[in-house]
Amino acid sequence: MSSFTYFLPETSLLFGSGTLGELGARARPHGSRALLVTGNGSMRRQGFLQRARESLEGAGIPVTLFEGVEPNPTAGTVSKGIRAGLDSGCDLVAAIGGGSSIDAAKAMAVGIGHGDADVWPYILRERETTRKTLPVMAVPSTSGTGSHVTWYTVITNQETGEKAAFSSKFIYPSESVVDLDIVSTMPPKVTAETGFDALAHVMESYLSSGATPMTDTLCLRAMKLIRQNLVRAFKDGSDMDAREGMALADTYAGLCITPSRTIMVHGIGNTVSGVYPELAHGQALACLTPPVMRFNIERGDASTVSRYCDIARALGEETARADRGNAMKAVEAVEMLQEAIGLRRGLKECGVSEDSIERMADYSLKFGKGAIACNPVKPAREDIIKVYEEAL
Ligand code: NDP
Ligand code: MN
Repeated sequence: MSSFTYFLPETSLLFGSGTLGELGARARPHGSRALLVTGNGSMRRQGFLQRARESLEGAGIPVTLFEGVEPNPTAGTVSKGIRAGLDSGCDLVAAIGGGSSIDAAKAMAVGIGHGDADVWPYILRERETTRKTLPVMAVPSTSGTGSHVTWYTVITNQETGEKAAFSSKFIYPSESVVDLDIVSTMPPKVTAETGFDALAHVMESYLSSGATPMTDTLCLRAMKLIRQNLVRAFKDGSDMDAREGMALADTYAGLCITPSRTIMVHGIGNTVSGVYPELAHGQALACLTPPVMRFNIERGDASTVSRYCDIARALGEETARADRGNAMKAVEAVEMLQEAIGLRRGLKECGVSEDSIERMADYSLKFGKGAIACNPVKPAREDIIKVYEEAL
């Protein structure tokens, strides 16, 4: 009998096509004036930002707009949002956009709630995040980060390039609305990058020392959904069954990484897009996943090897016996998938210079130590450097 802890997110979820219009009604019990946070234009261009605003205003909630959250959001952008929220007296924060907009909104909710424009000390845990944090509403426009159901926000210090994942039970979105009409507008590249992030989450959660029977079930189901739907959604964005499969997998993955955490791939991958903010989170993970898999399979114990065989099977491979050779089929399956969705490339091709490896290894040991500690094989600094080199 295994013993484990498990907890559910403090999030109410509404999932389905055409659900955006419900945002206002669902937000109403949580506040009376909203800061509405979004990215660099995709939601405005497609009319969803206006519809989110109308839904909130229709429910009697005046809106202050905050646009311009960048991919891999910075503490500087979060500060601007906090000031806008404080100046206009907002008591709730709503986000419509990708993981970056939702994460920025969570961090703004901390800052506004505590009356403090500087969020970095909270991320570093030098200042305590309390229940003063404002309620957050999340409407994801991507299917990958799971941020709409997680207790994480991932924020970059723009001065140093340090990127840190922060967790607190006070930043779970209170309400999340997953509208399939919104995620179905993702262009192929964003579909691929974010879909790979969801796959990384469930593979990592399944291998994490924090894995539990509760998360294992969702992880394996999500891997199958991703195998069945990611290439389809990439090739034909209007395939709504595939979009639904990916949105479900994304949500399952979020439910897994909160209690079980991620492993070395995220521990050292977040660092890459901190130092290289123009590099999409999902692409950074795609570069690092095969080298980390090989490292873990070569050095892992029997249980780790067996778990990689489970992953290979969930991704469609035959693995009669749980041995290292069969476990390696999981790597082949991942590489084939990457090929099919245009993510099979090295870090160098993505603009990462060999010279930054030492610095990235140091940042990872500082800011990714939680995830690194959950890796089935404990990597030394030299191992991290070797994995980065292999990923070049
Ligand atoms: P982003 O939110 O960074 O968005 C990436 C790009 O996609 C942006 O240029 C955005 O444009 C565009 N975009 C998003 N949705 C659409 C759409 N429907 N149609 C057209 N364009 C669209 O991507 P992710 O969702 O991958 O978020 C990544 C961030 O989330 C990273 O910082 C990562 O570290 C973090 N993360 C957070 C987790 C958590 O639990 N909190 C877990 C894992 C990752 P525009 O700006 O114009 O909207
Ligand atoms: Mn991720």
